[in-house]
Amino acid sequence: MRVRFAPSPTGELHVGGARTALYNWLLARGSGGSFVLRIEDTDRERSTAENRDRILEALRWLELDWDEGPYSQAERAPRHLEAIEQLLASGHAYEDEGAVRFRVPPGETVVHDLIRGEIRFPHEAIKDFVIRRSDGSPLYNLAVAVDDVDMRISHVVRGDDHLSNTPRQLMIIRALGHEPPAYAHLPLLLGPDGKKLSKRHGATSVEELRARGYLPEAVRNYLALLGWGLDDRTTFISTEQLIKHFSLERVSRSPAVFDEQKLRWM
Ligand code: GLU
Repeated sequence: MRVRFAPSPTGELHVGGARTALYNWLLARGSGGSFVLRIEDTDRERSTAENRDRILEALRWLELDWDEGPYSQAERAPRHLEAIEQLLASGHAYEDEGAVRFRVPPGETVVHDLIRGEIRFPHEAIKDFVIRRSDGSPLYNLAVAVDDVDMRISHVVRGDDHLSNTPRQLMIIRALGHEPPAYAHLPLLLGPDGKKLSKRHGATSVEELRARGYLPEAVRNYLALLGWGLDDRTTFISTEQLIKHFSLERVSRSPAVFDEQKLRWM
């Protein structure tokens, strides 16, 4: 398996992102594959080098080592522009007052998600979308699609807030003449009150957990068991055992609750 973690350096590493990184890392280590780190810094206004360094430091603290990267997505812009030229030449894209749009054909895209099963996206709801702004810069879905292909990613495992991007990325990859990777979208993390996890629930970033004195192994164990379980009884599992047993088949389809109080008892 070739998997990747692709954080945007727009803030610190949140527990949701850390769980995504951990699951990818476990899949790579368990399969003897590779874990690729890609910094998605195309949003120049919100991305900073400081945030990138903080994310890398949080991953190091969690002992989630990567085999390749960190690649900078922004530095790959020439490659993204080349792919846009290819799509223009093949008629899959066209100019619209200086911007370039991907031409969405009639029909539907079916995503075979390894966690959620088959999800259908009718194209009427998608419409032709911009892949290059009129200022010449490539857009996010194009960059991700091209990078996943170029980096030979076999499995894209990410948060399900990206699910609506998946049909667009699939269409781009196929239009470029490539086989898409497999996809698995992880359910959201909620706070103990069942609402979207946020600051008011307490420590929600890896840095904050570290500052409160939790040990990396406890954080890894807790995050691993959020939405994934070996069986109904196991509450602590060593990293070696995790690497051995982790699989996407046992990831839950429903949101998991992150409760710092529980971490305290690990
Ligand atoms: N850069 C995106 C994020 O930080 C992740 C995109 C992806 O995994 O495809 O949410």
